[in-house]
Amino acid sequence: MNIYGIGEETADDIILYAAKKPRFVMDTYTRRLVDRLGWKVGGNKYADYQRLFESKLDPNVDMWGDFHAQLDGHAARVCAKNDPLCAECVLLDLCPAGQANTR
Ligand code: SF4
Repeated sequence: MNIYGIGEETADDIILYAAKKPRFVMDTYTRRLVDRLGWKVGGNKYADYQRLFESKLDPNVDMWGDFHAQLDGHAARVCAKNDPLCAECVLLDLCPAGQANTR
């Protein structure tokens, strides 16, 4: 974190994917999904969103790496910043924002 250009997300990417230690990588994509799903977060900081996952999931480097990739892929392809594809989303039944978008 003292290296110029290395922020929380990049540091956690290195810890998870290179060092193979359990850190749940947080980013804008995942935060957007969490917010739209209406999950309660204890604050608005990176660590608050990260804690939501790390407090509920068993530490598993492979699963967390795959989970992060799938969350990002879903947010990029379906739960886009503008014009999310809610009618096609597998999370629609769980998502208040999506249900409001499809009324
Ligand atoms: S239903 Fe819509 S807002 Fe909710 S997660 Fe899916 S794409 Fe995103």
